[in-house]
Amino acid sequence: MKILVVNCGSSSVKYQLFDMTDESVLAKGIVERVGSDEAFIKHQPTGKAKMQTKVEARNHEEALKAVFDSLLDPDHGVIKDIGEISAVGHRVVHAGEKFSGSVPITREVVDALIECQDLAPLHNPPNIMGIRACQSLMPDVPMVGVFDTAFHQTMPKEAYLYGLPYELYERHKIRRYGFHGTSHRYVSARAAEMLKKPYDQTSVITCHLGNGSSIAAIKHGKSIDTTMGLTPLEGLVMGTRVGDLDPGIVLVLCEKLGLSVQEVVNGYLNKKSGVFGLSNYLSNDFRDLEEAAAKGNEFAKLALDVFAYRIVKYIGAYAVAMGELDAIVFTGGIGENSFEMRKRVCDRLTFLGIKIDDAANMIKGKEMDLTTPESRIRVLAIPTNEELVIARDTKEIVARS
Ligand code: AMP
Repeated sequence: MKILVVNCGSSSVKYQLFDMTDESVLAKGIVERVGSDEAFIKHQPTGKAKMQTKVEARNHEEALKAVFDSLLDPDHGVIKDIGEISAVGHRVVHAGEKFSGSVPITREVVDALIECQDLAPLHNPPNIMGIRACQSLMPDVPMVGVFDTAFHQTMPKEAYLYGLPYELYERHKIRRYGFHGTSHRYVSARAAEMLKKPYDQTSVITCHLGNGSSIAAIKHGKSIDTTMGLTPLEGLVMGTRVGDLDPGIVLVLCEKLGLSVQEVVNGYLNKKSGVFGLSNYLSNDFRDLEEAAAKGNEFAKLALDVFAYRIVKYIGAYAVAMGELDAIVFTGGIGENSFEMRKRVCDRLTFLGIKIDDAANMIKGKEMDLTTPESRIRVLAIPTNEELVIARDTKEIVARS
């Protein structure tokens, strides 16, 4: 059974084609600059040469056509007929309170996602465009929606409510939703396997640290709290996003800079803040920041310190919120690769009885236990695999329906 996983952003379409008989990846790639005259596809068939070429992709449907052309290409392709694809799994960012798990995509599901659009105006519209484009190109192929918010629907009210008037939750569904759910779910389940404990008896704090970053407290297999909120702007300091912030600052910035709320939120809080802003606009990439900090750049060092401190603060909060802790997991581009950041964080957690094995911590991009045998709490690095979770959910749901 071959399953295509599709992840549509505003100007990109990422894809992976899985052979679910052994969960192997047949091909993966991305169409970038969708909507412009400069769109191109990077296509990587497993075991064959990579391909990068300009494509016509003025919209998501054209971008998906380019994906199918690449999958069918005589030299770089991996299938002979589009009918070989049994199902499509779509990543969808925001499902509000509508779905607490993955679902077959029906007209009602698309309507429900359109209702959530206000909650994720940057993410849901391209996700929905991707679903519609696939439906038009492969009308008889079953599709499944896998939602970033779904895994966090187990949070209790005390964790997901803000200190706002309750009527705002009732009338406008203003609450914490959380994101990166598919990643937190994958790495927490893998952590339980690595610890050789049943998932429903394991308590872990998962740190997804990438350009967007979030931490989740996962007690006995259920997310009980997470750092991102109504939108993916809350919580940790990120690549360019500000994270937690006194809302009063927005008003002060509007006044001081002569900007609208929208300009402050989009221009500053989303795009110019985080480690990028803190480093005096040096970079949002941790490789650049770590290199600059090593050469003595004070702004880069400060950005890394603030980033690490916020992580440590949330780990402390979530350890207390759960009342027990088996492991801390690092994942995402930074969590999987930056041994410096992992060390910076773990060096502040020794009072929890954590002892890092420095040699193990130096290894990048691999599943690893980073702690010494005496460590009271394990620290694990686990490369995330959201696409595989989407493919697995799609397979299971299609088999059921
Ligand atoms: P993601 O959003 O999960 O793909 O993570 C992307 C980010 O991971 C990049 O912007 C870098 O900041 C970081 N990253 C990737 N590779 C490394 C590395 N080898 N060392 C430090 N940071 C890295």
